Amino acid sequence: MSLDHVLGIVYAALLGGALGSFANVLIIRWHEGASILGRSACPHCKRQIRAKHLIPVLSWLWLKGRCAECERKIHIQYILVELLGVALGIAAALRFNPFDFAVASWFWFEFVVTLALIVPSVMDIRWQELPVEYLGWMAAIAFAFRVTLAHDPWSVVISTLIALALITLFFGLQIILSNGAWLGVGDLWFGAFMAGVLGWPKIAVALYAAYLVGGIIAISGLIVGRYGRKSRLAFAPMLAIGILFALWFGNGILMWIARVYA
Ligand SMILES: [Zn+2]
Repeated sequence: MSLDHVLGIVYAALLGGALGSFANVLIIRWHEGASILGRSACPHCKRQIRAKHLIPVLSWLWLKGRCAECERKIHIQYILVELLGVALGIAAALRFNPFDFAVASWFWFEFVVTLALIVPSVMDIRWQELPVEYLGWMAAIAFAFRVTLAHDPWSVVISTLIALALITLFFGLQIILSNGAWLGVGDLWFGAFMAGVLGWPKIAVALYAAYLVGGIIAISGLIVGRYGRKSRLAFAPMLAIGILFALWFGNGILMWIARVYA
């Protein structure tokens, strides 16, 4: 690995931590319906957090997960999301060196779309909420990225439209059949984001992985008695795992399928 690639990974890790920190702000303020502007404050005592306590990951560890003012516990979400930001930044930089001009745009594509998955996943896990407008914007941004970077933009447009039609039908049917119990309208917007990021046929790989992981978690949850038959499994994190899987392994899997069935 060249020196500039190592530097690229360090750069992406730092940037990922900073964006994870920002994701935490979006998650909490959208849940509370508050403005995303303004300084961060402690969720308990509402006192502003000092600049030296705003360093991703390190501040949480240094303060042992407690507010520096009132010493009450800060939710584990904060450090988990920041660590996830660091990990996703490193993953994107390992695949595409951000300092290599030939692949830098793909680094930014993966960096943006994988980090974007954190906000809806956490909101779904904690409160069964999805940020619909955000998902719509992210779908458009991901699509614009792919059209701009493609050798053949029209094939991207067509593959995205096919993916969008299929996922709308697939999720729409489940919403109607279950009367909104399995999936909600927010999931349709998540589906649009999936179509914008992946297009057809990679979206099929993502769905397959999402339902597989969801099934495994649901079954093991039933076995160990964590879930009842009626408990609702947060679906957005499964779809997020599906998207990561399709981005990282989709090409290889599709080539393998083509070889086997050709
Ligand atoms: Zn406090």
